[in-house]
Amino acid sequence: MTKRIAVIGAGPSGLAQLRAFQSAAANGADIPEIVCFEKQSNWGGLWNYTWRTGLDQYGEPVHGSMYRYLWSNGPKEGLEFADYSFEEHFGKQIASYPPRAVLFDYIEGRVNKAGVRDWIQFETAVRWVEKEDGKFNVTVTNLPEDHTYTEVFDHVIVCNGHFSTPNVPQFDGFEIFKGRVLHAHDFRDAMEFKDKDVLIIGTSYSAEDIGSQCWKYGAKSITVSHRTAAMGFDWPDNWAEVPLLTHVDGNTAHFKDGTSRDVDAVILCTGYKHHFPFLPDDLRLKTANRLATTDLYKGVAYVNDPDLFYIGMQDQWFTFNMFDAQAWWARDVIMGRITLPDKAAMQADIDDRIAREEAGADDYDAIWYQGDYIKELVAETDYPTFDLEGACQAFKAWKANKKAGIMTFRDHGHKSVLTGTMAPKHHTPWARALDDSLDVYLQN
Ligand SMILES: Cc1cc2nc3c(=O)[nH]c(=O)nc-3n(C[C@H](O)[C@H](O)[C@H](O)COP(=O)(O)OP(=O)(O)OC[C@H]3O[C@@H](n4cnc5c(N)ncnc54)[C@H](O)[C@@H]3O)c2cc1C
Repeated sequence: MTKRIAVIGAGPSGLAQLRAFQSAAANGADIPEIVCFEKQSNWGGLWNYTWRTGLDQYGEPVHGSMYRYLWSNGPKEGLEFADYSFEEHFGKQIASYPPRAVLFDYIEGRVNKAGVRDWIQFETAVRWVEKEDGKFNVTVTNLPEDHTYTEVFDHVIVCNGHFSTPNVPQFDGFEIFKGRVLHAHDFRDAMEFKDKDVLIIGTSYSAEDIGSQCWKYGAKSITVSHRTAAMGFDWPDNWAEVPLLTHVDGNTAHFKDGTSRDVDAVILCTGYKHHFPFLPDDLRLKTANRLATTDLYKGVAYVNDPDLFYIGMQDQWFTFNMFDAQAWWARDVIMGRITLPDKAAMQADIDDRIAREEAGADDYDAIWYQGDYIKELVAETDYPTFDLEGACQAFKAWKANKKAGIMTFRDHGHKSVLTGTMAPKHHTPWARALDDSLDVYLQN
């Protein structure tokens, strides 16, 4: 009997999984039946922008964490799909740091070409998964019809992302703060903070990028409060880095070094939690946001039940092409092309990955660690090989460009590791490109 596979989520990870199976079918293989459940009304995951925050029209937690004027925070040459270049999609090479709408278009282009949209049940939220007699019972709700039902599958592939459930700390005085307090998950439009004094808590990508957005769209000042170390870039004059917030009093924020500032808004860029409310304890991944996840053999197969797979659960230097490598690998396990070793060997693989990650000294080690990981997976499947060393070098150049100018790094170009074409300079420097719509971005 044909196997049935449930894919949870149709973001870049879930779409990678659909494309992996579709490519096997296109090469003449008999593939299992694939059913992808996506709670939103469209695909693209975080790249499917929504203005909504809080709960959606069905009372479900809003998945989106992306904001209106987001541009890629890393070079597109580090994430290019090995089977679908930017040049193939746009008919020309484009600049290296596309805005969100442009990347969404690119993500969508590949899966439109593959013709996998019919495999997805949109507006269908996965509620619960459990294993019984060797099969998974997957309970879902069709949200528009308000109908809950259960289907049986041989494998489940979890692709629900992990940058959606906010980690929200408490600071004394927030209850009576006279401005707005929000988490990065709910940040949408930087124009809201024009002429405002903004306090950002954290030193993650979100802190760096949301601060830069607010600066670009006219915030009066940006103050970034850090727990351990400052980000240390050469920030604009109206930008300061200060130690951790201790409390707020009225509009005044007080910091650990005894200094204080008056601010209009506090944005908590304090990270996200892996969150799987639809999984019982014995199937649920419990990991920190790191390169070597706990409990996943090859970063993909759940060691305690390898009929279950997780895609994209690592901290991410690489994104789309890493999800692809993982999805092709999971597909090949399911289709019997790759055989899993016994549990002890899988656990030894996990322990080794963790030890190797911990032996790394800096971000460069981390970039090459993840590049090597992708190379390892790609070598075991028919995913097209590509120049991972070149992609790591693009990340290295990107880091150097950020150090040289945090508000100008997006004005640099990198070379595609697929086509060898150098990205052209964008027509407008990022700091002045206020209209980042697809049409304007693609103008020559
Ligand atoms: C603010 C921000 C900026 C980023 N910028 C970049 C960038 O510039 N470049 C880059 O490469 N990466 C960036 N990322 C990283 C991002 O994680 C990846 O690009 C990518 O979106 C991850 O894909 P995913 O499919 O794993 O998860 P997601 O994109 O989160 O997709 C998960 C999907 O699962 C669905 N889902 C969740 N729960 C359920 C359920 N119970 N039932 C059914 N469906 C469900 C969701 O609706 C969603 O469609 C950014 C992330 C954030 C938060």
